[in-house]
Amino acid sequence: MDRKDCVSDVETVVIKIGTSSITGGTSGVSEEFMDSVARQVKEVKDMGKDVLIVSSGAIGVGLLALNAKPKPREVPIRQAAASVGQGILMQKWSESFQKYGIITAQILLTLDFYSDREKYLNLRNAIHTLLKHGAVPIINENDVVCVKEIDAMFGDNDTLSAHVCSKMDADLLIILSDVDGLYDKNPKIYSDANLISIVDGVDDNIRSMAGDPTTRVGVGGMKTKLNAAEICRDAGCGMIIANSHAPDVIVRAVSGEDVGTYFRTSNRERKKLIWIKAAKSEGSIYVDSGAVNALNKHMSLLSVGIRDVKGRFDRGDVVDIVCEGKVVAKGITDYNSEDTFKIRGLHSDRIADVLGHKSYDDVIRSENIVLM
Ligand code: GLU
Repeated sequence: MDRKDCVSDVETVVIKIGTSSITGGTSGVSEEFMDSVARQVKEVKDMGKDVLIVSSGAIGVGLLALNAKPKPREVPIRQAAASVGQGILMQKWSESFQKYGIITAQILLTLDFYSDREKYLNLRNAIHTLLKHGAVPIINENDVVCVKEIDAMFGDNDTLSAHVCSKMDADLLIILSDVDGLYDKNPKIYSDANLISIVDGVDDNIRSMAGDPTTRVGVGGMKTKLNAAEICRDAGCGMIIANSHAPDVIVRAVSGEDVGTYFRTSNRERKKLIWIKAAKSEGSIYVDSGAVNALNKHMSLLSVGIRDVKGRFDRGDVVDIVCEGKVVAKGITDYNSEDTFKIRGLHSDRIADVLGHKSYDDVIRSENIVLM
């Protein structure tokens, strides 16, 4: 399997951009670099893909703006800098994307978004809606409040971006940094070091190739990137580490060109379906034969085909889809049991009237359904 095959079915891409790539201009940010990212994201969106950005740089840009040079473990000034820098960053991203007619949206996360179910579901709805409207979410950790006091450390965006991929069902994470990718040995010391094109799994051998953080500007290094690769792999998401300043790097990475290092994942579609099949069902949705016909054609489950609901489930839970006493499919529902019951048998355009809100046209989207 070559790089083209690895990315052929990518629909959603998360691009993580490190501090050292963003800083560099006189105002602390490199406008030329940000314009180039916006231009490439536009190209990727024109290929029909959704794009999310995880942008570092708030602290670095904020420190420059405040003209502050904190001591290594001095935290409050970094928190303050994050709040200054984040505003500058978003203004610059917005200006760059505006040149290509794209709206940007700021999302600041605390790292518990992936363990707190309610937060995760809310985040997922907001991001799906933004993507549906063609906007590009620009995500960063909320560094003002997310400080591990004990380590005097901020979270790293390599890990954050991998969790974003995992939870938002992205297919590819591109980590743009000041390194070309993963080398078999340190290229700064060994002139015969080779860039690895494809990595199949992060084992001890691969870990031994990662040195310490390459710059003092950002938080991560190759080690946090390898951790991110493992999170991605478990989530069925591929990952690429590449140099942010390589020409057209985003477009080339998404097109399957041999740029940077690609970390392979197992077959993502199968993995998700296997997971749904094995997951405990929290309830059952009883459907008519018309709905079963639609499911057999890989279409979504609509409210109109639903007859009854049993059990208590929340949106995001796995449920059985039952017809004539037989479980015909399982899926991840986008409506909780109460709402599903209220909209059973109704056409999708009535959902908003009945519930007072409508998150989705479909009760269970086709990509979240596995036939039994
Ligand atoms: N969230 C931090 C910032 O915006 C960066 C974290 C990282 O570099 O991984 O400054």
